[in-house]
Amino acid sequence: MGRSFQNAITPEGRRRPTFHIHTFGCQMNENDSEYLAGLLAEAGYEKVDSPESSDLVIVNTCSVREKSEEKLFSFLGRLAALKREKKFRLAVAGCSAQAHGEMIMSRVPEVDLVLGPASYGRLPLLLRAETGRAVDVDQVLTWSEDRPRTFLRKSPVSALVTIMEGCDNFCAYCIVPYTRGREKFRPLRLVLAEIEDLARRGYQEVILLGQNVNSYRDPETGVDFPLLLRRAAGLPGLKWIRFITSHPKNFGGAIIQALRELPSLCRQVHLPLQSGSTRILARMNRGYGQGDYLRLADELRDALPEIELSTDVIVGFPGEEEEDFENTLHVLERVRFANIFSFRYSPRPFTASSRLADDVPPRTKQRRLMELQERQKQIQIGLNQVLIGRTRRVLCTGPSKKDPRAFSGRDESYRVVNFTAPEGFSPIHRFVQVRITGCGPYSLRGELNE
Ligand code: SAM
Ligand code: SF4
Repeated sequence: MGRSFQNAITPEGRRRPTFHIHTFGCQMNENDSEYLAGLLAEAGYEKVDSPESSDLVIVNTCSVREKSEEKLFSFLGRLAALKREKKFRLAVAGCSAQAHGEMIMSRVPEVDLVLGPASYGRLPLLLRAETGRAVDVDQVLTWSEDRPRTFLRKSPVSALVTIMEGCDNFCAYCIVPYTRGREKFRPLRLVLAEIEDLARRGYQEVILLGQNVNSYRDPETGVDFPLLLRRAAGLPGLKWIRFITSHPKNFGGAIIQALRELPSLCRQVHLPLQSGSTRILARMNRGYGQGDYLRLADELRDALPEIELSTDVIVGFPGEEEEDFENTLHVLERVRFANIFSFRYSPRPFTASSRLADDVPPRTKQRRLMELQERQKQIQIGLNQVLIGRTRRVLCTGPSKKDPRAFSGRDESYRVVNFTAPEGFSPIHRFVQVRITGCGPYSLRGELNE
């Protein structure tokens, strides 16, 4: 299913058209971009690294927070200026395309094509049609995949594999159910075929993706998420399997049991908290309170003492008082997450909370965000220091960004590990043992220990 198209010239001597994709947002968007790239490669396009040398530029967008959309319009402004010089076709895909297709078309006249996530399979067709400007933002209710998808993946060892899309949870602040539509589950046989193919081609790690993976149900057989994990872990070849994102209200004992029994499931779970205040969680429509969340974290730790948890937190949701925020800090101290993603609340179109007064002043949101991040930084330093002197198994992803003589990778808990190796030995894309010699709050440092 994965192919590489390196040659700029076709066997008939024609120059291949080129494309460039810029991706904003989450891993779901990353995976969609790999799918779009696969479709274009199949259609004879060649991938290039910059918009300047492209015949087609696609911007894959995110609309989850207001800031991401502000960034999008300034980015599109720069591309529009470049387009007037270089004459490429400009397409906008992803969640903002879905939510604001017509608005993007009228604000940025240089955009030729807007397509929502449900329309990606039609991209080659739309490009061939060359009918001037077009908006294609259909919403489908069931999974549409009439033949196995082709991906042009960034990594040759770690792959994202989508198992479901959309969401039925309607958290009060979240635009996803409106941009990605209702839950759609990818048939298990297609998921397993993709994983099998990846393992055959030497992939070491897969990350199963969905907005709420715990609610997975195979539309053909009714197999649920814990069973999907067992079936995936039963395929030969893969060393690490992760999944993202879990919803605390759907995280049952059968998943914990699978994590205990299946050695290839990484002992690491991303479990979005959003707020530590039961009152705010109810206003957010999250379906659990602080007590439920802490019980689940305890249950996971009792079953798997080495498990690492990470989370998402929003500060400044409408009506959040100092006491609510203190409750969030309390959960941070109590659970001691290995990593958090933290955001200032911003109202999003269509959502329930956009009808509430955005009453936490921007300065208060900012102060709470800073305080939260500072507390978390201290927690991470504490957790990381304990690892100094120990040896970690690391999947090396490539050279370190800061020091080209060093290497970078991730351990089972998904921590970044930067490390040195003896000259002449390349650990790239391999599992290696690294002795940890130092740390910062966001990464570990070490040396190869083999
Ligand atoms: N499905 C996942 C979940 O249940 O948490 C992730 C959804 S969203 C793509 C990723 C994160 O963005 C959320 O977990 C939340 O913390 C944040 N987020 C979503 N809407 C937001 C908003 N209106 N303002 C600030 N942060 C938001
Ligand atoms: Fe958004 Fe909530 Fe669905 Fe996550 S679970 S995608 S936060 S509505």
